[in-house]
Amino acid sequence: TGEPEGKLVRASEDYAPGATNSARINATLLALVRNEELEGMLQAMRDLERTWNHKFNYPWTFFNDVPFSEEFKKRTRAVTKAEVRYELIPKEHWEMPSWINQDLYDESVKILEEKKIQYADKISYHQMCRWNSGMFYKHPALANTQYYWRVEPNVHFFCDVDYDVFRYMHDNNKTYGFTINLYDAPASITTLWPETEKFLAEHPEYVHENSAMNWLTDKTRRPDHTKDASGYSTCHFWSNFEIGDMNFWRSKAYEDYFNHLDRAGGFFYERWGDAPVHSIALGLFEDSSKIHWFRDIGYQHIPFFNCPNSPKCKGCVTGRFTDGEAWLNREDCRPNWFKYVGMG
Ligand code: GDP
Ligand code: MN
Repeated sequence: TGEPEGKLVRASEDYAPGATNSARINATLLALVRNEELEGMLQAMRDLERTWNHKFNYPWTFFNDVPFSEEFKKRTRAVTKAEVRYELIPKEHWEMPSWINQDLYDESVKILEEKKIQYADKISYHQMCRWNSGMFYKHPALANTQYYWRVEPNVHFFCDVDYDVFRYMHDNNKTYGFTINLYDAPASITTLWPETEKFLAEHPEYVHENSAMNWLTDKTRRPDHTKDASGYSTCHFWSNFEIGDMNFWRSKAYEDYFNHLDRAGGFFYERWGDAPVHSIALGLFEDSSKIHWFRDIGYQHIPFFNCPNSPKCKGCVTGRFTDGEAWLNREDCRPNWFKYVGMG
């Protein structure tokens, strides 16, 4: 894409802290967060600043559906040397779309609650999932930004990471990076795969020749899930951690797919999460070799961990997947990804 050839071969020092400004990637750390979650956000920021960002000083961009408080701004600014931005989400990106029928929504919530789907009755949770699926990268404040690292309040980072992960993404032509892969609750996405199949029938041309279709449709490890989710294994990249290239979300294929899903209404009539939506899109429309497992980024969002075996990591137990009940170990579907796509 018109890049001078010489730039393709980079000296290793380009990845190191203190690399020249010209080597900087157009990227931001990004968090959707509520004012009430300030303490948890500070904790997550301190972890990421200590292990990584103080070496690179990528800006932080915070998003909220209501204005951030002065206290939120003051205290988050105090834990980083980097630039910090506070952005309000436009109403038209957050509100329940006009075509969603309120009565049908109320009915659906009851059914989801009977099926023990967490947060089903919280309309803001549905709005959050929709915003993370199809809206965040359309915010005007990100118009000139290509890469993002999504961070949530209360998450932990355990390992010193000494290279610029955004530069790694860029130079290795990666679209998406993850740490944890999980099965989802099938009842939250009963019609997501059938809607996806309808979309694919209209747009077979969007499926990449090196897609991860067999990962999406695996039924060998959790046949119960694949059946209850109507053909989707439910295995997804756990999206509270994402390092991604927004050009993928901005592509025609993803825009058409998101609009199809949005019209179908499952962000409200079911509880489609941004994690399965992102994962299905990546698995279908992207070259699976462009999806990277960040094995070296030690991470926790309760109750799951990614904890590498390295002296650079402190505060987590090597290889531990959960600190919750033992059955939670069954939720790990990384082995699926490795089976179909490999270790990258
Ligand atoms: P969980 O991880 O699925 O249990 O969901 P969370 O409660 O952690 O929400 C996911 C992310 O969205 C977190 O970063 C929250 O701070 C954020 N979030 C969820 N709901 C809202 C909301 O109504 N407003 C704002 N501003 N942020 C929200
Ligand atoms: Mn969370």
